[in-house]
Amino acid sequence: MDKYLEIGKEVIVKLKEAGYDAFFVGGYVRDKLLGIKSADIDITSSATPIEVIALFNNVKETGKKYGSVTVLKDKYKYEVTTFRSDGDYLDNRHPDNVLYSKKIEDDLSRRDFTINAIVMDEEENITDHFDSISDLESKIIRTIDDPSKRFKEDSLRILRAIRFVSKLGFEIEDSTLEAIREHAHLIKNISIERVMVELDKIFRGEHRNKALKYMINTKLDLELYSLSSGIRFISDIEAKLYPIEAFIICFILDDIDDIWRFSNKNIRLIKQIMDLHEVTKEDIFNRFIVYVNGLEACLLANKINIVLGYKDQEELIRELYLDLPIKDVCDLKFKGQDIIWLTELRKKSWIGIIVDDLKYNVIMGYLPNDYEILKEYALKKVKELILEMGDTNG
Ligand code: ATP
Ligand code: MG
Repeated sequence: MDKYLEIGKEVIVKLKEAGYDAFFVGGYVRDKLLGIKSADIDITSSATPIEVIALFNNVKETGKKYGSVTVLKDKYKYEVTTFRSDGDYLDNRHPDNVLYSKKIEDDLSRRDFTINAIVMDEEENITDHFDSISDLESKIIRTIDDPSKRFKEDSLRILRAIRFVSKLGFEIEDSTLEAIREHAHLIKNISIERVMVELDKIFRGEHRNKALKYMINTKLDLELYSLSSGIRFISDIEAKLYPIEAFIICFILDDIDDIWRFSNKNIRLIKQIMDLHEVTKEDIFNRFIVYVNGLEACLLANKINIVLGYKDQEELIRELYLDLPIKDVCDLKFKGQDIIWLTELRKKSWIGIIVDDLKYNVIMGYLPNDYEILKEYALKKVKELILEMGDTNG
């Protein structure tokens, strides 16, 4: 039994007992009919957000402005949206105003694709207003109403169409496809964060290459800043890629465009892997590279190298990593602290130079990680440095 669905039915029954209309809708119903497990349940209801909040104990006001709240029941979440028809769209994305409605038909006709507008009641009866079932069976993505109008209203729907190709492997219906081609440039009006959410799903989908081919075919890829060469390349290979790997490949084949928004951590990773790729695509990994970058980053760079047609060095990377005499500067037998104890040197940057020197020699195997030997080497280097630079603490 699907507990998530069963509790969802209780939400619907409670709404109905309070006198409202309510149905399952959207991705959950679509996926259920296709026999796919779905991550979230959407419910559409004639109850307004305020009425939903009054009816349930635990409700989060996730998108109240657009008529949407999240009901939390047991450990499950249900996005409950009020039947609505959208006002005019002025910015290719957001309706100027939202009108609540008491009719499910109004709500369904503002939805994007026929396959996303199937409703199911608490007894699992299906209602099909737009020949959705036929499109589902024929595996077709078709906008509700005139595609040109629908994409002009909200151009994110263009990427959503591609996203559903990637997830489901469906074909895009001819007039819908033609409208995507015609309005591809409108994607530039969509916030980059929203574009990235869709791209993430497009790159992850089981039918990624089919989706990417649609992007190329409609010239949508050309609207995505520096991604076009990468998208063309990836659309022809079999390798599974995490979205970040796909982005790295795109940036290697073109350049990083600053418009893309990544977390600081990811931006560092992207730049690190791009640099690693540059130094290891033709040459081999060495101990120092593996030490400085760590095992994971090296393996990731190696994966990117392989995908781009360079040689596989995984075995070498793992061997180098296992054989590293130190994994961290703390593992050095003679440390910065020892320099302070045994010499006059106090300036941090100078001590850093000596420690880096020790580290390099130990990692490369030129010196053993032995206190006495490192001490002798370090003291000699301190002397040389003082002679060369003069004042040790200035
Ligand atoms: P997924 O399985 O990826 O969650 P989904 O179809 O449920 O796909 P959501 O983004 O969760 O997609 O949206 C839920 C429903 O809301 C959609 O099925 C669709 O009916 C409607 N919807 C979402 N975004 C739009 C949009 N931009 N324009 C019109 N309808 C939309
Ligand atoms: Mg959903």
